[in-house]
Amino acid sequence: MLQQTQVKTVIPYFNKFTNRYKTLESLSKISENQILKLWEGLGYYRRAKNLLASVKLLVKVHNSKLPDNLKEIKKLPGVGEYTGNALLGFIHNYPTIAIDGNVKRVFARYLNKKESKINFKKLIHVNKKNLFITNRNSDFVEALMEFGALICRPKDPKCSQCCLNKSCRYLKSSKKIKTNKRKKIKIMDYDIFCFLNKKKQIALTKKNEISFLKNFNLPLIKKMKNNTENENWRFLKNYKNSISNLNLNINLYYKFSNKIPKSYNWYSLNNNKEFIPSFTKKIFNQVSTLF
Ligand code: SF4
Repeated sequence: MLQQTQVKTVIPYFNKFTNRYKTLESLSKISENQILKLWEGLGYYRRAKNLLASVKLLVKVHNSKLPDNLKEIKKLPGVGEYTGNALLGFIHNYPTIAIDGNVKRVFARYLNKKESKINFKKLIHVNKKNLFITNRNSDFVEALMEFGALICRPKDPKCSQCCLNKSCRYLKSSKKIKTNKRKKIKIMDYDIFCFLNKKKQIALTKKNEISFLKNFNLPLIKKMKNNTENENWRFLKNYKNSISNLNLNINLYYKFSNKIPKSYNWYSLNNNKEFIPSFTKKIFNQVSTLF
């Protein structure tokens, strides 16, 4: 849940999940639509799908226990090197480090060396005797991430409060490395076409070509460039929608019609049992002004 998402946003979702599903077995029995509905509004829905697939696998193949080696853990859907190491450390108290952006920055600053010039795996392996000096490996994994987020933070590191300030090369150096990476924002232009009916319903399809929302319920969406479709539709408005590093510029069109293409189904603009992604909910809000 915390991937690309702030703690304060995650807390109510985390509480809802853990209150409702106390064991892996109970969570493993729900459907994909149910988990997506619980996840609704949190975004990056692939995480919910991967979580459910991983839980099912853990229950079925691993007797509801997390494997104790990275190779097996990485077979869980959505679990890569970073999450795998974090789990190994948290659950099995294994001496390891989950290398995320925060941790990379701490090491890079401490050595005053560009991240691209550091082989992090090798660095950790060579220094393991100095790094894992207590038996609190689980706390150490967490502490390093927090250290990067709270002390050696991206902007204005708190060097005066830092326990490493006596030996930190970044602090001492007159030629400090640059560590603030700007996220590259991609601007994309889309036309969105909504079939509506008088019952306050909108037609949605899972068959769309939008890679970041593949297989989710959406109206007809086309890239704006060279699009001739809009001639038969009424223009409603232009608005912007940001998803991760994408800045979407959207022209929204609509038509009232009872006839819809085969792959579409009608959904209420007010209430749905089925999961509706936030992107589509924003469209609901815009077209609701027509009623
Ligand atoms: S002294 Fe400053 S730059 Fe160095 S590790 Fe500590 S917080 Fe980061």
